Amino acid sequence: MAEKFLNLVGGKWVPAKSGEFFENRNPANWEELIGLFPKSGPEDVDAAVGAAKEAFRSWRLVPAPKRAEIIVRAGEILRARKEELARDMTREMGKVIAETRGDVQEAIDCAYFAAGEGRRLYGDTTPSELPDKMALSIRCPIGVAALITPWNFPMAIPSWKAFPALVAGNTIVLKPATETPLSSYHLFRVLEEAGMPPGVVNLVTGGGSSCGQPLAEHRDVGVVSFTGSSAVGKLLAQATGQSLKRLSLELGGKNAQVVMDDADIDLAIEGALWGAFGTTGQRCTATSRLILHRPIAAEFTRRLVAAAGQIAIGNGLDAGVQMGPTVSEKQRQTVHDYVEIGRKEGAKLLLGGASLTEGPHANGWFHQPTIFGDVTPGMRIAQEEIFGPVLSILTVDSFEEAIAVLNDTVYGLSSSIYTRDVNRAMRAIRDIEAGITYINGPTIGAEVHLPFGGVKETGNGHREASHTVLDIFTEWKSVYIDYSGRLQRAQIDNY
Ligand code: NAD
Repeated sequence: MAEKFLNLVGGKWVPAKSGEFFENRNPANWEELIGLFPKSGPEDVDAAVGAAKEAFRSWRLVPAPKRAEIIVRAGEILRARKEELARDMTREMGKVIAETRGDVQEAIDCAYFAAGEGRRLYGDTTPSELPDKMALSIRCPIGVAALITPWNFPMAIPSWKAFPALVAGNTIVLKPATETPLSSYHLFRVLEEAGMPPGVVNLVTGGGSSCGQPLAEHRDVGVVSFTGSSAVGKLLAQATGQSLKRLSLELGGKNAQVVMDDADIDLAIEGALWGAFGTTGQRCTATSRLILHRPIAAEFTRRLVAAAGQIAIGNGLDAGVQMGPTVSEKQRQTVHDYVEIGRKEGAKLLLGGASLTEGPHANGWFHQPTIFGDVTPGMRIAQEEIFGPVLSILTVDSFEEAIAVLNDTVYGLSSSIYTRDVNRAMRAIRDIEAGITYINGPTIGAEVHLPFGGVKETGNGHREASHTVLDIFTEWKSVYIDYSGRLQRAQIDNY
């Protein structure tokens, strides 16, 4: 009998009020049932938000350095358990163990970085225009933060949201993706063990429209932090727009790597392989388009296709495996659909293009690394996010054309250019429309102390990570302290 996991509401582990559960299965071997998780609905959300609201009354008064100490402890527990957490994450999500270790490490990095903010949370002090008067600005917590997360970084993304939100003095309710609830369960166990008071951290698992939407729309939620698809992000923007609550959106991408004729070609091939096929292409920052300068395009493509054809595919826990399955049947079907679209659009299938369904791959959602050549900027496979191991190669005649093609998408998350010409690199930094630009590195590899997010339809202007995440989870308050003992009218008495 599979283990039944529970929600965390007000410091107690409880089932959904409906008593129903949903299954979590291993995408590399769907016969492995990892566990059953509560199928929560609006009434569970209501209870969790109620608990968080109540806990906020005292949590906001705990000094920030003390709140941060609990986050440091959580980081230490995560560090001690990194290996077992990574193994469980590979079981539920499919990416290879080296990458799930990296995912847990990102949570650890985030814990330490966010905890440091407990002793900063800087505001400004500034002179008043009036005598005997002091002026300053301080950051205040917002209240209950609703965190809604996708499955591709099952521990890193919840941590990116939870740790800074908590250090800033908010209480939280997290709804993770139904594909990866186990990693969130582990994270909340860790937070509890680290000493979070009851009600400060709450976890509800369940579907997007039945659990995520009521959470985002709940009137006692002050801020919603969402990472996921642009389609759902737009729905949430409409819903939260009605109540004018704060909403931070981290959405899709159609990231490109440019390779110019002066690049270190070996390095660029290595970068393209990692960017396109790492995490089975299921990163919001994955390299989905490769833009090659014509003089090197043919040779680069030949070598890349040969190397991608060697990628070892299988269960991410097995030694030597470099690429795991897609996360679900639905995700593999999406990949399959885009392969068909690419074919019909006239792109040339250079590698892969099929699901793997035999032998060691028979019970998993495996798909071959796939590369299309002769892709033109207007094709759907050059415009739409696929979120799988599919790379589209476009060829350009100049640096200017490369930047124009790179920018020709509704998204703007990550970008990369390989060149040894410093002038080209500097112009690329200036002209690329994206939240992240790598020079001589692939499109993936963000670090927690730099702002993370994108432009255009990748988001709505917020940046997670870094100190910029505090602008999501705090309100500014301006404070004027008059010690003159008389009424002083700004703009009037002093002019
Ligand atoms: P998704 O939008 O389907 O789901 C994300 C989360 O939203 C899940 O928890 C889901 O249950 C929930 N959800 C679904 N419908 C909802 C609704 N109506 N109301 C409230 N919540 C709802 O995305 P996904 O398939 O889990 O993740 C893949 C997407 O996430 C890709 O588009 C990818 O680019 C994006 N992503 C972006 C970033 C980033 O930082 N920009 C990072 C990782 C993933």
